[in-house]
Amino acid sequence: MNILCLICHEELSQQMSWSSFLLSEPKVCDECYQSLRKINSPTCPHCFRPQENDHVCQDCLTWENSHHWKNILQQNVSVFEYNDSMKELLATFKFRGDAALVEVFQRDFLASYKTNFINEKIDYTIPIPLSPERLYERGFNQAKLLADFLPLTQTDILTRTHHEKQSKKSRQQRLTASNVFSIVDSSKIMNKKILLIDDIYTTGSTLRHAAKVLKNNGTDSVFSLTLIRS
Ligand SMILES: [Zn+2]
Ligand SMILES: [Zn+2]
Repeated sequence: MNILCLICHEELSQQMSWSSFLLSEPKVCDECYQSLRKINSPTCPHCFRPQENDHVCQDCLTWENSHHWKNILQQNVSVFEYNDSMKELLATFKFRGDAALVEVFQRDFLASYKTNFINEKIDYTIPIPLSPERLYERGFNQAKLLADFLPLTQTDILTRTHHEKQSKKSRQQRLTASNVFSIVDSSKIMNKKILLIDDIYTTGSTLRHAAKVLKNNGTDSVFSLTLIRS
C-alpha cells in the first residue's frame, strides 16, 4: 500500500517515517516534519514569542498598559514558529483547502495543551469562528479542526459579525476598532475558564477581541492555544 507524505507527496517508507514507531499511520516524511520548527524557550511568558530572554515583550506591555485590554487575554501558547516551511504548509492547509493536512499537527498540538494547560482546569474551548461568508468559501474552519484534537468540550457561542481583514488596519485602528465578535448565549460561560483556539497568533488582536466579548459576558479567564506564533 502506498502512503504519500501529506506535504511533499513523496511515497513514505514505513521504516523511515518519524511516526512509524507509533501506532498511528505516518502522515509526513521525516524531511518535511523536521523542517517545521517547534518553539523552544526562552519566549515571552505572555504571548510565546520566541526571543532572547523570558521577559514580557514590548507588544504585550503595550496591550497590558492599555486600560481597555489589560488582563483580557491571560496567556497565549503557540506550538510552531512561522518559518518558510510552515508558511507553505499553512497556505496549503488554509487557502487551498487541504483539510487533511491538519493531522500533521495533531500530536504536537495535543502535547502542547497537556504541557501548558492541563493544570488550568479549562471548562470549554472555543475555536475562533470564521464569518459565514468565509466558512462557505473555505468549506471548513481550521480552528475548529485543531480544537477537535483536544479532550475538552467545545462551545460555539461566538459569531463573527463581519470579516474586514484585520491586517489591513493600522495598529491604532485595530486597538480601537469595534468588535467583530458577538456572543449568542452567555449563560454557559459565566465564571468559566475558556481556551480559545486559532491557527496563528500574529498581533494578538483577533484573540483579544474574542476574549474581550467573553470577559464582558462574565467569563472568569481566557487563554489561547494557537498552532503558530508569527
Ligand atoms: Zn514530505
Ligand atoms: Zn509577548
